[in-house]
Amino acid sequence: MSGAQIGKVDPLVEVIDLVRHYPPRGAVFAERKAVRAVDGVDFRIEQSRSFGIVGESGCGKSTLARLVMALDRPTAGRVMFMGNDLFSLSAQALRRLRRNFQIVFQDPQGSLDPRHRAKRIVGEPLDVAAPGLPGTERNDRVAAMLAAVGLRPDDGERYPHEFSGGQRQRLAIARALITEPALIVADEPVSALDVSVQAQVLNLLRDLGDSRNVTYLLISHNLSAIEHVAEDVAVMYLGKFVEMGPAREIFAAPAHPYTQALVDSVPDPQRPDRRRHRIPEPAPAATTGCSFAPRCPRAEARCRIDAPNLRPIAPGRHAACHLI
Ligand code: SF4
Repeated sequence: MSGAQIGKVDPLVEVIDLVRHYPPRGAVFAERKAVRAVDGVDFRIEQSRSFGIVGESGCGKSTLARLVMALDRPTAGRVMFMGNDLFSLSAQALRRLRRNFQIVFQDPQGSLDPRHRAKRIVGEPLDVAAPGLPGTERNDRVAAMLAAVGLRPDDGERYPHEFSGGQRQRLAIARALITEPALIVADEPVSALDVSVQAQVLNLLRDLGDSRNVTYLLISHNLSAIEHVAEDVAVMYLGKFVEMGPAREIFAAPAHPYTQALVDSVPDPQRPDRRRHRIPEPAPAATTGCSFAPRCPRAEARCRIDAPNLRPIAPGRHAACHLI
């Protein structure tokens, strides 16, 4: 494809059989096995929806986010964004298309230049996307954006170190939203924040998503964060999706044993005595069959032979388990 297609395209993002394997390091040649960071993943994100990917550290979710943003190349598969195959575009067309997505990182401290005032930091993406914008209009848009994330107009005069952690993440969100990008990728957006401010920032993300029709790809190990913001969710385990569907339904009635254990790990003050599915600590992946089998309390003989595929289990819901 010669250039970036702009306009309303549904789905906004379509990921097709995406694979990212890394060559092993430090092993004797005969023992070498590729690291299967992403191992055949399919999903789509409709316009104005929020899609969450949840899983333990090392499950491949951040690699997947990097692939969706074309910050890494896949071993196989495709990422379609606004109808364009990201990995078939010329470098120039990819650069143009990239303006349609912005990133909110885990650590707001590291993503904001400490030498610049907040108004410059927030306005910078606008200077790139709309360099001819009159100064007064630019300043008005920065002030409006600061207000939209709950900061005062005079906060624009302050430097990053003068803000609290939660306020810095608000600045990072303002910076990401100011060009009205088609997609916001938020990678562990509250993990570096105090628990006391996490809910505020998640509420802000959700409210901005509702009021501005933002499409989010939210990555987190924290199920509560995903539950707060995402409408659709995929649960990832060792490079594969093991369950996917509407977030509300999955969190209310998880089907896959791994999802059940994740949901049970979240404290519920209303139901302190509820029955919990417990799983052992992370173990090496099975070399054949279901990769979750070494930790699964329900594993049976066939689980160690045949790998289950992600398949429909109810309208809009998919899971990969022989017993569902
Ligand atoms: Fe557990 Fe077997 Fe289902 Fe895998 S396929 S999650 S091992 S029951």
